[in-house]
Amino acid sequence: MNVHFHGGAQEVGGSCIGVETDNAKVALDYGIRVGEEDPGHLPQDFDVVMVSHAHLDHSGNLLSLSKGKPVIVGSEITREVTAELLRDMIRIKHANGNYFPYTNEDVANIETCWWTRNSIALPGMSINLHPAGHVAGANMISMQAEGKKVLYTGDFCLHDTEILEGSRLETLPKDCDALIVEATYGGTARPRRTELVDQFLRQIVMTIERKGNVLIPAFAFHRMQEIAKTIDRAMDDGRLPDYSVYVISNLARKITRYFNRHKHYFNGKVAGQRQPFNYRHVKRLRRTEQIREPAIAICTSGFGHAGASLHLLNEWAQDENNSVVISSGYLPPDSPLKVAREKRELINGTGKIPVKAEIEHIELSGHADQNELVQLVEALKPRKTFLVHGEPEQAKALSEKISEMTEVYIPNRSEIYVI
Ligand SMILES: [Zn+2]
Repeated sequence: MNVHFHGGAQEVGGSCIGVETDNAKVALDYGIRVGEEDPGHLPQDFDVVMVSHAHLDHSGNLLSLSKGKPVIVGSEITREVTAELLRDMIRIKHANGNYFPYTNEDVANIETCWWTRNSIALPGMSINLHPAGHVAGANMISMQAEGKKVLYTGDFCLHDTEILEGSRLETLPKDCDALIVEATYGGTARPRRTELVDQFLRQIVMTIERKGNVLIPAFAFHRMQEIAKTIDRAMDDGRLPDYSVYVISNLARKITRYFNRHKHYFNGKVAGQRQPFNYRHVKRLRRTEQIREPAIAICTSGFGHAGASLHLLNEWAQDENNSVVISSGYLPPDSPLKVAREKRELINGTGKIPVKAEIEHIELSGHADQNELVQLVEALKPRKTFLVHGEPEQAKALSEKISEMTEVYIPNRSEIYVI
């Protein structure tokens, strides 16, 4: 069995790993390098493309298969959200006047080629999916062929979040010949989730006490619904006082429909409600002009470089009573949020504006941290472990922690290993 690292090796983005036997050729994920000029070119001759979850760095390259008849396998909500994110990508590319040879018809073709299964069999190979935490519908992928066992984690977490259960170690295959594991936060240990949520709510309360506005930039898929639900519940419980709260994102509005329709992907508390993502306190708005201040606004984009979050960042950052809460672990180097946090300034059409609002970074991440990654390796005891989806320093830090338990490899893009 050969394992071929086509992308996502020593980098975050463009995830795609080929697993090849004499009889079958399978792709694990089919992602793009998000925000880069060259999205990455992947081989097209796979028998099956397995998609771990809907983030475009794992699924965004599927459009390049849309003219053929690919076989794509993944969870139902992954199919629906991937289609929504692909349509959004096409819309943005065309609106920016970029050459992009795909339309919504290509997305429809991808959807008809998509099988929602928890397991499949190919000649001499069986493949199973296992819930991975991380975001709604995310799966790990295990495969057995030629007497070998391989587990690919995709993006995952072991910790539970406010709406989603983490991956359960006892459901995952032990003693694999190869574990291919994400190392996004291989060098980072985080406080417990409940502590981070407390910190998050405290920041909001402090801002409310001085009648300020709170801006929370978030991604339209999962993080936005999770944060909205957390604030909604906290107002129900009295942990937060009543205050105007808004979500502003057209894309999130579409995705939230799938969340309500497929509530069985979420934890029991959420799944037990009739329409869990129709909030009691949080209102949906189409435009920032509809906000009645003071308010809490959860909006896209997650990096603050476009949309309502860029607009409100420019409007609210100059007032020391306001705060901006960043929940994403990673920020691109030149993103407005990163510049605002590190240099305390914003650069827009009229020049530089000083940032006076509080900017808090509270990482409500859906990725495993170093402790969870070590725990996974300890429990599964793989013979070989390949670290992917991580900057080299993160992967190296993790490697040092696990190298006595397993043979560790940090593959380069295009490298092939024989299992
Ligand atoms: Zn992801």
